[in-house]
Amino acid sequence: MSKTAHIATFGCQMNAYDSERMAGLLAKMGYARAQGPDTADLIILNTCSVRQRAEQKVYSYVGELKRLKAANPDLIIGVGGCVAQQEGASLLKRLRHLDFVFGTGALERLPELVSQAAEGYRMADTGLDAAPSPEIIVPARPGLKALVTVMTGCDNFCSYCVVPHVRGRERSRPADQVLAEVSALSRAGVREVTLLGQNVNSYQDPDSGLDFAGLLERVNQLPELWRIRFTTSHPKDLGPRLMEALAGLDKVMEQLHLPAQSGSDRVLQAMNRGYTRAQYLERVAELRALLPGLALGGDIIAGFPGESEDEFNETLSLLAEVRYDFLYSFMYSDRPFTRAGRLSGKLSEEAKRERLVRLQALQREIGLEEHGAQVGRVVEVLVEGPAKKGEGLMSGRCRAGRAVNFPGPPELAGRLARVRITEGREHSLLGELESAGEVKKP
Ligand code: SF4
Repeated sequence: MSKTAHIATFGCQMNAYDSERMAGLLAKMGYARAQGPDTADLIILNTCSVRQRAEQKVYSYVGELKRLKAANPDLIIGVGGCVAQQEGASLLKRLRHLDFVFGTGALERLPELVSQAAEGYRMADTGLDAAPSPEIIVPARPGLKALVTVMTGCDNFCSYCVVPHVRGRERSRPADQVLAEVSALSRAGVREVTLLGQNVNSYQDPDSGLDFAGLLERVNQLPELWRIRFTTSHPKDLGPRLMEALAGLDKVMEQLHLPAQSGSDRVLQAMNRGYTRAQYLERVAELRALLPGLALGGDIIAGFPGESEDEFNETLSLLAEVRYDFLYSFMYSDRPFTRAGRLSGKLSEEAKRERLVRLQALQREIGLEEHGAQVGRVVEVLVEGPAKKGEGLMSGRCRAGRAVNFPGPPELAGRLARVRITEGREHSLLGELESAGEVKKP
């Protein structure tokens, strides 16, 4: 019987992509996907340390695995990702049931680490020097959508962020490799790719110097691909070329994630974000002038050290001005190695939570209004399959990235449908099918 592996993924889309790569590497070693951790021969945790809460989840998950290891001493357990990078060998000392730890730069050495663990060695590999892997891995059963990394690491050193410390400096993948991967995925049936990087706007092909707008132009030419999204854009690096690519390339969707983090100039400076509130709003205005249908997403941190009530109100007013379509909002938490962690003026958990609640209440209102404004419009939906909730409803995303549900037959999965919106809900839109297009090719 073949061996099986279970990969538990925590955190962002970069981690989701890395987990796919890990699954590909393990498949080459003969590991099939396990049904769950209880039946697996190998368990990999792909961890996130970007927020304290994410890190705590990882520790509680690792704790639960002790029971499985006691019942099956041959079980191999490895911890990868950002917590592994941050903690390194100390994890092996603290958690005796772990077999190996591999940092964000050691992903490609996973097969070697698994083999060594099978022979009884316990080791930590946290070298950060690895460039993005040239290997093209296409999942055995790709879906309609896929993630493709175009760059790893970050050079920005925002004062609250652990990423540059655990993912290393920026490294772009050669454009030809990105093209080859997207091309292989689209030939295997993938219709929508999301190009990933901590700061895609500073992408630069190490061979030709091609920038991110140039990369988008090339990906846009792939015949079997229908849709392109990308994340994340740093506002300070969002230039006219990328804005024009966003507006002018037919396969690039009308959606942009542009994290502001705060609406206060003093806080933005303390965060080392490299732009002011006015500059951020200027970018938003330019984007909206070029692309009136653009859906904007944002990130906000509530309760940064020293954030006053007035400064927080400036963030609320930024929200009201920008009118994000979707927002990721978080309470500030100290992260290892960061400058913000050493700042004075920390707010209590209660004060941070209270601000987060106000932020989310305002965003709920804005989101509902924005979704309500879609009623009557006809949108193009890439139909993914039956909706999770709701009998007879099919579900997909419109070009702007909003979830759209509508009554329709299951045969629509994999097609582009035109749907008239009839209702705007908090997290999704409801609509009626007008027409459906091409069938997904295998
Ligand atoms: S841009 Fe700032 S917040 Fe984003 S990954 Fe880099 S350091 Fe972190």
